[in-house]
Amino acid sequence: RGLMGIKKINEELETTGDMGSQIMVFVRLRPMGKKEEETGSRTCVRIVNKKDVYLTEFASETDYLRLKRVRGRHFCFDASFPESTSQQEVYSTTTAELVEGVLRGRNGSVFCYGATGAGKTYTMLGTIENPGVMVLAIKDLFSKIRQRSFDGKHSVLLSYLEVYNETVRDLLSPGRPLVLREDKQTTVEERMSSMEGQVADLRNMIKKMLEVHNQTEASVARSGEGRSTNSEIRREEEEGIMAAGLTQYRAYSTDEVMQLLLQGNRNRTTEPTRVNETSSRSHAILQVVAEYQVKDSVNVITRLGKLSLIDLAGSERALATDLRTQRSIEGANINRSLLALSSCINALVEGKRHIPYRNSKLTQLLKDSLGGPCNTVMIANISPSNLSFNETQNTLHWADRAKEIRNKACSVNEEAVQIPEFETEQTKLLLELQKQN
Ligand code: ADP
Ligand code: MG
Repeated sequence: RGLMGIKKINEELETTGDMGSQIMVFVRLRPMGKKEEETGSRTCVRIVNKKDVYLTEFASETDYLRLKRVRGRHFCFDASFPESTSQQEVYSTTTAELVEGVLRGRNGSVFCYGATGAGKTYTMLGTIENPGVMVLAIKDLFSKIRQRSFDGKHSVLLSYLEVYNETVRDLLSPGRPLVLREDKQTTVEERMSSMEGQVADLRNMIKKMLEVHNQTEASVARSGEGRSTNSEIRREEEEGIMAAGLTQYRAYSTDEVMQLLLQGNRNRTTEPTRVNETSSRSHAILQVVAEYQVKDSVNVITRLGKLSLIDLAGSERALATDLRTQRSIEGANINRSLLALSSCINALVEGKRHIPYRNSKLTQLLKDSLGGPCNTVMIANISPSNLSFNETQNTLHWADRAKEIRNKACSVNEEAVQIPEFETEQTKLLLELQKQN
């Protein structure tokens, strides 16, 4: 009886910890590039203990040892990856847990943030020999879904989008820009009818919720999996945010996915002057919707989860502002999406009621992957070269701030958990057990 007690409290702890948004922040340092070496650039970043990042303006080991206390800065993240870290390790540490969440019906998103050339696309997409997080995540999803699906049936749908100049494009089927459903209502009449529609939707949703609730009440009470029963409702919400006419590609194998994504990446916008290079102002978003069914002793439960993997535009211009007007030099574009992303994350973790998703195309697209109970992973990419010192410093500051926000959110969770009671309960039970033996 005592052990049952512990188990129950553990479950409660788990569910309490599972609510709200959670952010993990990582840093990945890429190796020095050939060009950088040739121009005699020096290393200004060192990662120690897989956690601590030291940024100095000095190059050699002796300089580092001699001067690190004098100049430079120290940062610490959930994990920091030195140059030698493999793609697989980056995936396992940053994203594997998130994929596990997606399989339980909890949406998640992974962002790569950093200056152009810092290694975002390498981390997300990688190469055929060294596939990145996008490909490894899908591979993991495939194999786990196959193991867990009770009837062998499942569906993994992919869409790959670009946001460039606040225009959304389908990278899997390039053509005219996509219109987000949210953007369509313009006239008062349309808005009125949409409101009526929304009220009807709400009625439907409540009706369905009640149906689902009645059907599964027993299993919910037993297994604590109430969230997955809402999948039908979630699906409807999802469709509301999808871009009209977007290709959703049904994925079958990982090799195929890699080919698809490489092709998609070739469809990303390039600057007219550098036709072979992806524009540093282009955001690429891979969305993966996974659906399968599990069975407990009574019910078949559909699990639907969405994973968003985002290769953000270069962050170097996001910070460039006109000192006189305090306006961004770049105008609305790259800035708008990156800044809007930052404000949404801020608002979410601070528990604000209004989340400003509508401020940019990027945040509109990520609406259902950033709010509610979902997990967010930030990977800040940096170069080791002293030539990128300022950009690296900016990126590390940004990542450090994201970490601060997370700590606030965590402390709220801890208050609700009531650990002391759990501990006394556990001690009591252990004493009881000892007496019995
Ligand atoms: P970004 O997408 O941030 O502009 P890229 O991912 O294109 O940067 O990286 C710039 C260059 O550095 C590319 O040639 C890429 O192959 C290389 N690179 C980046 N990260 C690594 C890494 N971890 N290991 C090896 N090469 C890398
Ligand atoms: Mg890139």
